[in-house]
Amino acid sequence: MIRNNLPKEKIVNKLLDRVFIDYPHKRTCGLGHHYLMINHKGKIISCPLLDDRVIGSIADENIVDTMIEKNIMPKTENVESINDCKDCPWRYVCCGGCPLLVYQKYGNFKSKTPMCNINKQLIPELIRLEAERIRKFNIVPNLIKI
Ligand code: SF4
Ligand code: SF4
Repeated sequence: MIRNNLPKEKIVNKLLDRVFIDYPHKRTCGLGHHYLMINHKGKIISCPLLDDRVIGSIADENIVDTMIEKNIMPKTENVESINDCKDCPWRYVCCGGCPLLVYQKYGNFKSKTPMCNINKQLIPELIRLEAERIRKFNIVPNLIKI
């Protein structure tokens, strides 16, 4: 259906959860590194799905330290520390998936996402679709002109 109705807008980063093709990265999200949430009571939370797990508050001396030191994910974890992912060709676009999902399913941050097989099947298809979209709307010649 998508192939038959390719939109003009870029789709390559929008169709698979937490898969970003455009730029290489080592972590699926900023959990514990450059991402925090502050709720309506001024409490700090690591991720939107952990809203029952408060790690600090805006009254903390340094909320960046709170984010880094008190989140549930070890600082060193990234896709290169996941054995199943470290040689995968998609490691820097998938990064092993949502770390919270992995933790909730397997109790650790060293496993790949349960969505792995879906991603492996669909990432190549997604790239093909993006190529077809670019060709359909003649986007490459426009970019070259700029
Ligand atoms: S596709 Fe699978 S093996 Fe590859 S990075 Fe993603 S979760 Fe890891
Ligand atoms: S841990 Fe998962 S749900 Fe939480 S911010 Fe990261 S990707 Fe989103």
